[in-house]
Amino acid sequence: MTANLLDFDLEGLAAFCDRLGEKRFRATQLFRWIHQKGAAHFDEMSDLAKSLREKLKTTARIQALGVVSQHISADGTIKWLFDVGHGDVVEAVFIPESDRGTLCISSQAGCAVGCRFCSTGHQGFSRNLTAGEIVSQLWFAEHFLRKHLGSTERVISNVVMMGMGEPLQNYAALVQSLRVMLDDHAYGLSRRRVTVSTSGVVPMMDRLGLDCPVALAVSLHAPNDALRDNLVPLNRKYPISELLDACKRYLEFAPRDFITFEYCMLDGVNDSPQQAQELVQLVRKDLSLGSWCKFNLIPFNPFPASGLVRSSNDAVSVFAKILSDAGIITTVRKTRGDDIDAACGQLAGDVKDRTGVHGRIAKQRVVMLKSVVDIAPHGRKDVSNGL
Ligand code: SAH
Ligand code: SF4
Repeated sequence: MTANLLDFDLEGLAAFCDRLGEKRFRATQLFRWIHQKGAAHFDEMSDLAKSLREKLKTTARIQALGVVSQHISADGTIKWLFDVGHGDVVEAVFIPESDRGTLCISSQAGCAVGCRFCSTGHQGFSRNLTAGEIVSQLWFAEHFLRKHLGSTERVISNVVMMGMGEPLQNYAALVQSLRVMLDDHAYGLSRRRVTVSTSGVVPMMDRLGLDCPVALAVSLHAPNDALRDNLVPLNRKYPISELLDACKRYLEFAPRDFITFEYCMLDGVNDSPQQAQELVQLVRKDLSLGSWCKFNLIPFNPFPASGLVRSSNDAVSVFAKILSDAGIITTVRKTRGDDIDAACGQLAGDVKDRTGVHGRIAKQRVVMLKSVVDIAPHGRKDVSNGL
């Protein structure tokens, strides 16, 4: 089996080239061809000696995930479904905004955490994506978009690991893929503009801080352990106090001076004014550190199997106001790409439907892939850089 070069960060590619008897600068050249120019064939790499190109053809390949479908929304949001084999698909969504282009990508096919409000969780876990499969979503989207928009410049400025899967339960592949995203010879993304979102895998948060600190979003969803145990089963292993401690340890390494807490607003479950107050108390203990966290309230995208309902706009506004009045920067996520279901995984379901009951569950699954509008503090209403 030949090596898939999308699996390698620059160090890995240098080691691969070394095994071929090639110097390190060849690895840099190759890396730039693949990631900066989007080359998929060795013959495109005109400044590599023909003998090396021939050697590469027999030992290596550049194999991206196959695209199952592509949908472009009236607002410019684009959603792709990628085939990961055995009837599974994962999705990525591009969200254009005036000052940046954000790509939301997946880290696993399915997810083992099983949060009650998440249809990926309801689908169960199929498998981890490889580093190459994670990178492949960015590789494909960036080079597709450059052609589509007629741009010679980089189009994607931000990546959020908020598609399918729990990134910190696929740690090795995650870190390898982050290194490619950050490398100046590849995508050259700023650490502040790459966000890992986690449901709270505490030991891996510590490791990420040491190995590859990037911006961190933590899916909190509840102000106390009793409720969080129920919504995010991982809480039984890593309760809120441990999670908050890990967040504070992470801040020592983080490229930003805050952690973003995501909070999915569920009608009658976690959206009362009392619960907002409880949340304030929870993080206020640490306000001596300054504003070390921000909240991003996510209106729940319902799917029948969850038995849950989206909070009313009023409930979201009252909740947001309580947090912001307590001095906590709070944003409410705004829906984008609704006309193509970029806000939800229905397309993934349509594909999987052929395979039976899981597909029908997947059909209703929901993924948040949105821009963020800053509504709360001081009545301002502008597009924030949210995460
Ligand atoms: N596993 C990671 C990242 C993927 S989920 C995590 O849980 O953080 C990305 C975000 O989408 C999480 O904050 C998650 O709670 C949220 N989410 C999942 N299902 C949702 C739904 N049905 N409605 C709104 N947000 C949802
Ligand atoms: Fe997994 Fe995140 Fe969904 Fe929870 S919210 S089931 S951790 S993808």
